[in-house]
Amino acid sequence: MWFLAGSGVFLFFLALSILLQRYILNPAHQLKHAIQQREFFNLYQPLRCSETGQLVGVEVLVRWLHPSEGLKSPVTFIPEAESTGLVKQMTALQLEQCAEELAPVLAELPELWVHVNISAQHLIDRRSIERFIAYKQKIPGLVLEITEGHMLALSSDLIRQSLQQLKAAGVRIAIDDFGTGYCGLSYLRELPVDILKADKSFIAAMGTDAVNADVLKTILTLARQLNLTTVAEGVETAEQDQQLRTMGVDLQQGWHHGYPMTAEALLNTHLRADTSSG
Ligand code: C2E
Ligand code: MG
Ligand code: MG
Ligand code: MG
Repeated sequence: MWFLAGSGVFLFFLALSILLQRYILNPAHQLKHAIQQREFFNLYQPLRCSETGQLVGVEVLVRWLHPSEGLKSPVTFIPEAESTGLVKQMTALQLEQCAEELAPVLAELPELWVHVNISAQHLIDRRSIERFIAYKQKIPGLVLEITEGHMLALSSDLIRQSLQQLKAAGVRIAIDDFGTGYCGLSYLRELPVDILKADKSFIAAMGTDAVNADVLKTILTLARQLNLTTVAEGVETAEQDQQLRTMGVDLQQGWHHGYPMTAEALLNTHLRADTSSG
């Protein structure tokens, strides 16, 4: 009798721990659940013209409002979303949210660049490519950002095919965090890339670290030779803004130009402020 009761308790806890591990504590299951529950939302950070300060685009940055853990940064869950393949579903949901939330913004600025971060996996997935091309109808200024390191993770033939298809459909491609990976010059020349985003570590190094400041100059020279648009990310001060303008960087992004914000805040503050000041 005692034995039976004891094994019953044991089996109960065993089943509970399996359930916990497989479903409740399992990060992939948590992500899937969060997608279903629509716990992800977007913030939009302005990209401004160096010369005029005008709003040219926004970068879409995902956030997770976790029911018990609160607001979570993408660096805590994007790696898991990528390794499980769920990132494709997340991006699909994100595009849907973007098109809906940005509709009033795009009504005023139809050509606004809308930068969406994607992963290497998207570029080898037919449905993702088709989805991006379809969203070009709703978001004419769609730009896809791929981190430099991700480009190298795949065979260049596959990437080239997808990029060429996107290019033919008018979707722009940006290389993110440029200068931190090992993207060779010849590789860059072959790929249909439109924009280089110099990694924020180079902007932070300006004025303090001569070697990294030189790397930034090299990146700008390279971009000019290849006819690419340059973006400096992580611009935090007026001094950096001024220096980057002198160096000829096309666009700037960072706290100095605007924090990541909701679509509503973008419309109310930045867009209205821009149009009213001419
Ligand atoms: P990223 O694409 O390089 O995005 C720029 C990051 O720099 C963002 O961090 C942004 O909030 C932050 N940032 C902006 N201005 C400044 C500044 O002036 N100073 C500093 N120190 N940081 C600044 P966030 O939003 O935490 O995103 C981190 C990374 O997570 C992104 O880096 C991107 O690689 C990834 N990520 C974000 N959203 C998504 C998404 O929707 N999908 C995918 N696949 N990845 C995403
Ligand atoms: Mg990015
Ligand atoms: Mg990145
Ligand atoms: Mg970046």
